[in-house]
Amino acid sequence: MELIIDNLSKTYSNGIQALQNISLEIPTGMFGLLGPNGAGKSTLMRTIATLQDADSGSVFLGDIDVLKQKNELRKTLGYLPQQFGLYPKISAEVLLNHFAVLKGISNKGERNDLVKALLQKTNLYEVRKQNLKGFSGGMKQRFGIAQALLSNPKLLIVDEPTAGLDPLERNRFYNVLSELGEHTVVILSTHIVDDVKELCTNMAIINKGQVCLKGNPIQILESLKDRVYKKTIEKSELNIYKQNYKVISEKLFLGKPTIHVLSDVHPGDGFSLINAELEDVYFSELFKNTNLKRN
Ligand code: ADP
Repeated sequence: MELIIDNLSKTYSNGIQALQNISLEIPTGMFGLLGPNGAGKSTLMRTIATLQDADSGSVFLGDIDVLKQKNELRKTLGYLPQQFGLYPKISAEVLLNHFAVLKGISNKGERNDLVKALLQKTNLYEVRKQNLKGFSGGMKQRFGIAQALLSNPKLLIVDEPTAGLDPLERNRFYNVLSELGEHTVVILSTHIVDDVKELCTNMAIINKGQVCLKGNPIQILESLKDRVYKKTIEKSELNIYKQNYKVISEKLFLGKPTIHVLSDVHPGDGFSLINAELEDVYFSELFKNTNLKRN
């Protein structure tokens, strides 16, 4: 099974071009769609999930023409949107059971088994009797996944799932997601580089409605091999470095900025070559993009 997106474009009525000729081939497994806020990720996810129309282009999941055969797609889709409401005064088990009824799983024994299995899979079995009102952000997200898995989807879309989760909850969420990619196309849309680093076998970076880079994270990292250098500098020097080097990221370390610089040759005194991280790839792509726009 593969999801093929071909030349997808969308301009909103206010003139914003949210998607500009997006083409992606997404195989079974975890696919990371990485991009800053406003890049067009949600627009793309919502279009694939048949919640809104594109102006042009096509999307196919196997034989299903997603933009035309919406009902067909919906039967095999699991979608976890950025924000979703839950009935607060019901337990996780009762609500999941209720959703299973709505999905048409009428056999009680089959339904109970499925609900139990999904609660276990998402690590919520222990808290199944608790009302959703008391659930943390991470527990709610995992409940969202359990719900999305009820229909045994071939395509699962998860939009910005870890925003607002603390590191522990994020890790639990990663563990749940990482088991899903074997038979399913899972698209994880995020602006958090670590989400992709931890989980995804394929990825794309989008910015301003366009794909800047796509491929396998390990191969993509190869492209930056021997090209990223690090230096710790004084705060007052930051602007000068930015004018003279391709500074792709800056982070405070013990109160001083540590900069990462992209360069094909050794940039000089005090710089040391480092192994590029996915974060460097991300920032260097966004850097390129901003620079192109500036020139
Ligand atoms: P992301 O999910 O990457 O943050 P979005 O797809 O939400 O990006 O937004 C892409 C661009 O389209 C942004 O500039 C946003 O302001 C704009 N946009 C999103 N939804 C609408 C809408 N319904 N009407 C007009 N503009 C929109």
